[in-house]
Amino acid sequence: MSKRDYYEVLGVSKTASDAEIKKAYRKKAIKYHPDKNPGDKEAEEKFKEAAEAYEVLSDANKRARYDQYGHAGVGGAAGGGGFGGGGFGGMNMEDIFSQFGDIFGGHFGGGGGSRGPQQFRGSNLRIRIKLNLEEMVNGTTKTVKVKKMKLAPGVTTKTCPTCNGSGAQVRVMNTMFGQMQTQTTCETCQGLGKIADKIPTGANAHGLIKEEEEISINIPAGARDGIQLSVRGKGNDAPFGGTPGDLLVVIEEEEDKTIKREGDNLHQELYISFAEAALGTSKIIPTVGGKVKITIDKGTQSGKILKLAGKGLPSLEGYGKGDMFVHINIWTPQELTKEQKEFFESQLDAEEMKPHPTGKEKTFFEKVRDLFN
Ligand SMILES: [Zn+2]
Repeated sequence: MSKRDYYEVLGVSKTASDAEIKKAYRKKAIKYHPDKNPGDKEAEEKFKEAAEAYEVLSDANKRARYDQYGHAGVGGAAGGGGFGGGGFGGMNMEDIFSQFGDIFGGHFGGGGGSRGPQQFRGSNLRIRIKLNLEEMVNGTTKTVKVKKMKLAPGVTTKTCPTCNGSGAQVRVMNTMFGQMQTQTTCETCQGLGKIADKIPTGANAHGLIKEEEEISINIPAGARDGIQLSVRGKGNDAPFGGTPGDLLVVIEEEEDKTIKREGDNLHQELYISFAEAALGTSKIIPTVGGKVKITIDKGTQSGKILKLAGKGLPSLEGYGKGDMFVHINIWTPQELTKEQKEFFESQLDAEEMKPHPTGKEKTFFEKVRDLFN
């Protein structure tokens, strides 16, 4: 796949200032941020592409090499810098988020300031939680069991002998562009600056052990399908201590058997008998705020829609509420006793029983239109 020009990716000119580049990247990063585009692969690619472009254009040396040699000048191991030997293809979301600390002041939640020895962050964990409509509206607390990497008790460390604790190795390389001094992550300690001294059995080389933890998650009112919450510090522990990652919680809506959601509005079908429609009745129906009594007037026609204002979901914009729509269906009896049959037969010619449309009855589409006006 051919790479797009980095200036084109950020939408800036070749002579753009550092401030312009930063501003352009900020805009792209916010637009394509995975939290804003959950599950959108294309947005994720754009997000990574912008991060990669920014990584190069925000660094005077890399930018100069890129200007002169194009992608070949900054890709791969010869480029040095934080991408390791795998070139830019190895840039993962964690790297991108760690970049944010510098640009956005860390408020993206995924970021953790600049990298360096002793500043490693544990990786984030992602789980899904199903909520019913009522839990989404009112908020809830869920306790989940999460398998995560935890720092094993008894781990001790010592300063890395290869890099003397700096986490970086400086190398002089002969490249096609001449001799270049590159700084790479220390291979012995992977940039941590320290290595394990004593590791308890069962733990990995970073002193981490897989354990199940029960975590209580507070879900605020107004959650929606696809929204992601971040529980700070409840992800994987960092190697040898340090800042743990976050637990990312993706909200999934549990489908309700009775109530269907359409944006902020809710709908439900209500079946009443022919006798109830003719005589009028009242019914107790479920809503997200609890059960509600509704009155059905005598002479109600099948297909009538009752609107319960404000009984929908709170709007995501933070003000106003959706409505609940109750669709009335009149149930035609499937079986009749001999007496009932005789009764209906006696009514066949009764004037009151015959349909008398006035021409003013609204069609289904007119009713729907009226409800939303
Ligand atoms: Zn080292």
